Amino acid sequence: MNTQAPPKEEPSEKDIIASLQEQVSASRLNLFLQCRLKFFFRYVLKIKKPKTASLHVGNAVHAVLKSWNKARWVQKPLTLIQAHEAYAKAWSDDPDGIPWKPDEEAEEKTTGWRLVNTYLRESHLPADVKPDAVEVPVEANLINHGLPRLIGILDLVQQRKVIDYKTCASNPNSEKAAHSHEIQTSSYSLLYRHNTGQQESGVELHHLVKLKNPKVVITPMPPMMPRQQLRLFKQIEAYTEGLQRQDFIPSPGMQCASCEFFNECRRWH
Ligand code: SF4
Repeated sequence: MNTQAPPKEEPSEKDIIASLQEQVSASRLNLFLQCRLKFFFRYVLKIKKPKTASLHVGNAVHAVLKSWNKARWVQKPLTLIQAHEAYAKAWSDDPDGIPWKPDEEAEEKTTGWRLVNTYLRESHLPADVKPDAVEVPVEANLINHGLPRLIGILDLVQQRKVIDYKTCASNPNSEKAAHSHEIQTSSYSLLYRHNTGQQESGVELHHLVKLKNPKVVITPMPPMMPRQQLRLFKQIEAYTEGLQRQDFIPSPGMQCASCEFFNECRRWH
């Protein structure tokens, strides 16, 4: 007797869109508002693209900072050697195999570690202050506002301050950084409030900048203001309405230069 289960049916485009309408994250919302066709390629058609070198560096840096913060949370701070080991382990986690050019991998790996080393040496996170939360997945049910569930992962919360890490190639301007990351920072503030019943003491973006001499730029922001929450709600509303209409038109612009779906987009009609 054949006891093998029948192959699982792939969800249809309609099912995928319906599930995207039920919950939203800051990154999905950002992408939808940046270019709806790119969103369609990534989240509806789920076209896989190779990881870029810069994303791999960012992920490895993020992973070691997560280990560093988790160790502070259990009050067993990592030594620099342990942090380096955690970085090497995160770096080797490359299941898809990035097609590195000669010498590129060694250079990028060194760049990533120098960023981490700079951040830890400058004590932006005092080893003796216990974080409130590290890499915690959270959600907020916004049904009372006629909106889908909001989900996200908070990198770090310390002394009621929500902290998010970024790696970038040039010095960020604080006003522009606060503006361009507003969907994310407002989402995190909202998630924090829903899950703690308290208002955050502020939000900070910690940019680790990949310069010849790596540097850390911290952008502090006050707690989310009511008008920022309203903007976020209107943006989520535009997302759900757009999905409802299956509005996936392209938005050509500066961002196309680094879009991984450029070829697919040129063929779209
Ligand atoms: S190439 Fe530009 S317009 Fe096309 S999907 Fe990418 S970001 Fe959108």
